Amino acid sequence: MNEITIRSIQHFLYCAHRWGLIEIGNAWSENFFVTKANIIHENVHESNSVYTKRGAKVFTAVPVFYDKYNLYGVVDCIEGSPSKNGVHIAGNDERYDLCIVEYKPAKPKDKDYRYEDLMQVFAQKICVDSIFGCDCKGVLYYADVKKRVELPLSEDYNKYDRDLRNILVEMQNYLEKGVIPPVKRGQYCSGCSMKDICMPSVKSFKSVREQIEGISEGEQ
Ligand code: SF4
Repeated sequence: MNEITIRSIQHFLYCAHRWGLIEIGNAWSENFFVTKANIIHENVHESNSVYTKRGAKVFTAVPVFYDKYNLYGVVDCIEGSPSKNGVHIAGNDERYDLCIVEYKPAKPKDKDYRYEDLMQVFAQKICVDSIFGCDCKGVLYYADVKKRVELPLSEDYNKYDRDLRNILVEMQNYLEKGVIPPVKRGQYCSGCSMKDICMPSVKSFKSVREQIEGISEGEQ
């Protein structure tokens, strides 16, 4: 079984074809949006530290893993608020309630969060809960509006856990076969850094041609 990075779950859900180009095709290209997101994450991770802010302990760039799902990654930030019902964290006598903070450059215009971002934080939660023995919360912090949005991770835990396991099985299948997933119908490509490599308009033309000629749509 392949190990899967938490971040790649978000890539896979945004566009499985893009994920395949990166993970299986070893392709990569950056644009303004990728660079901006990288800078935001570098700023958070650079400190790689523990500090106190408004009474809460803040841990940045925390490596996490969950062996059972072959998952690993780095959490932007974990905040610990003192609580007598909370959990102990390394080097501290106090108990804390934990909350994951994932930084995103921009808030979606029509909703509070994207499903792929929620699943990324849910995968982080699975790791953090298993390491610390807790039921942590998770929020997205949007840099453009300087606002936090809390995610309903515990409320719909069973559904998201089922979703996550299905997504990981799908990813494992593609990785094991070395096959890049096809472009899904109606894929939203605006802002994708891989457009020049992927050439989605050529692919949709090919897809129409294949349908007309009765050729089955193959892998890339
Ligand atoms: S251009 Fe569109 S189809 Fe191609 S990788 Fe990017 S998002 Fe996916």
